Amino acid sequence: MKPSNTQTNEESQSLYAKSKKIHPRIVFGFFSRLKALSGVILLGLYYIVPWLQWDNHQAILFDLPARKFYILGITFWPQDFIFLTFLLIVAGLTLFFFTTLAGRLWCGFACPQTIWTDAFLWMERLVEGDRPKQIKLDKAPMSFRKFRIKATKHILWIIFSLFTGFTFVGYFTPIRELSEAVMTFNLSEAETFWLFFYAFATYGNAGWMREQVCIYMCPYARFQSAMFDKDTMIIAYDKKRGEPRGSRKRNNKEYKNSGLGDCIDCTMCVQVCPTGIDIRDGLQYQCISCSACVDVCDSIMDKMGYPRGLVRYTTENRLNGKTTHILRPRIFVYAGILLAMFITIGYTIGTRTLVELDVIRDRNSLFIETDDGLIENVYSLRIINIDNNPHIYEITASGIKGLQLIKDKELQIGAGEVMTVPVRLAVDYENLSQRSTPVTFTLTAKNNPELTVTEEARFLGPRR
Ligand code: SF4
Ligand code: SF4
Repeated sequence: MKPSNTQTNEESQSLYAKSKKIHPRIVFGFFSRLKALSGVILLGLYYIVPWLQWDNHQAILFDLPARKFYILGITFWPQDFIFLTFLLIVAGLTLFFFTTLAGRLWCGFACPQTIWTDAFLWMERLVEGDRPKQIKLDKAPMSFRKFRIKATKHILWIIFSLFTGFTFVGYFTPIRELSEAVMTFNLSEAETFWLFFYAFATYGNAGWMREQVCIYMCPYARFQSAMFDKDTMIIAYDKKRGEPRGSRKRNNKEYKNSGLGDCIDCTMCVQVCPTGIDIRDGLQYQCISCSACVDVCDSIMDKMGYPRGLVRYTTENRLNGKTTHILRPRIFVYAGILLAMFITIGYTIGTRTLVELDVIRDRNSLFIETDDGLIENVYSLRIINIDNNPHIYEITASGIKGLQLIKDKELQIGAGEVMTVPVRLAVDYENLSQRSTPVTFTLTAKNNPELTVTEEARFLGPRR
C-alpha cells in the first residue's frame, strides 16, 4: 500500500539520542592534585601488588584450580569462603558509610572506572593536546596527520589495556609464571581469554564509553540518592551568590549594582566536567563528585578577585544557611556495624585453627570382630594442613576404656596439603556398654601442640 501524503510528509523522530563526545578540559587545583595522587596510588597498587612475595607465595593470589586464596600470608580454603562473604558485606557497608559521610567520594576519587578513565584521558591529552585541540582534530576531515595522531592514541590505549589484562590474570595465575608464558607464547586458553577479555573491557570502558558507564550502567549512581540527606557532602553551586549570572569586565567592581551575581558565565565548570553536566542546574545523578568544577571555578574566582567557593564541597543545609550535622545517628550506626564486623573477622581469622579434621566412618561394615576378640571400626580421616609449614601429626582417640588406634602410616603433611588416611579403632567387647558409643579423635602437630583439633564420631558394636 502506498503511504499517504500525510505519512510521507511527517518528520520521523528517533527515540535514540546519539551521545556527544565529551572533551573535558584539563584542570589544576587542590582536588585535581588529590585525585591524581589517589589515581597514582591505586593504579600503582593494582600493577605492583601481584609482583610482591609473602612466605614464598605471591602476596595476593586467587589460585582457583587449587581452590586456595593467598592473601598477605594467610591461606583461605573453600571452607573459609564465609570470610569472603563477610568482606563483601564490609565493602558494601564501607561504601554506605562513606557515601553518607562524604557523598560520592568513591565515584570521584577511587572507583576503577574513574581511575582508568583518567589514565586514558591523560594519554589522550598527551597525544592530541587539551580540549580545544581535541575538538578541532575531531572536526577536521581525515588526513594523514589526523590518522597518525588517532592511531598513536589507540596504540597507547591498547598497550595499556593489554598490560591491565595481563595484571588482572596475574591475580589468578602466579604472575612470574604468567610473564614467562607470555614471552614464550605459551598461555593457556583460559589465560588468553581472560587477558584479552579484561583488556577489551578496559579499552572499551575507559577509552570509549567513559561517562556512559557512570550514567547508564552503574547501579550505584541510581541508588546512592537513597543514602543522601540534607547533611550529606555534595558538590554544589551557590545559586544565591552566583545568580543572576553574566559576563562582565574583570575590573568591573560595581557589577552587583548592575544586578549581577558572582557567576561570570564563563562555562568553565561545564567544560571541565567529565560527565558533561552543568553543576549550576543543581544536584544531578550524573555528577560523580570529581570536584573538577570546584577547582576551575576557584581559579576563575581568583582571577576575578572574588572569594572562592562559588562551586564548593558543602551540604544542602549549609548552602541554605542552616546548621549542618556531619556526625549524625546513621553515621554512628554504620561505623558501629563496621567496627563490629572488622573485630569479628579479625578475631575469627586470628584464632582459627590451622588444621582441619574430618572423620568418616566406613559405611561398608558396621564393625569387625577380630580373632583376638576385639571389636574394630574403620574410619577414613581427611586432614587439611592449612598452615604455611609442614607438620607431623599425632592422632589419638578417646571415649571408651582401653580404646586402641591403629594406623598404617605416619601423618606427615606438607604446607597446604590434604591427606586422607584410613585408621582403625579397636576395643575389648567387655568395655562396650552400649551398641553405639561416642568417641573423640584428637589431632595434634608434634612440634606445635597449639595446632590441635578434635572431631567426634561413633563407635559401633554388637547388640548387648
Ligand atoms: S566556572 Fe564558576 S564562574 Fe564560571 S560559569 Fe561556572 S560557576 Fe560560573
Ligand atoms: S558537576 Fe563537577 S563534580 Fe560533578 S562530575 Fe561534573 S565536574 Fe565533577
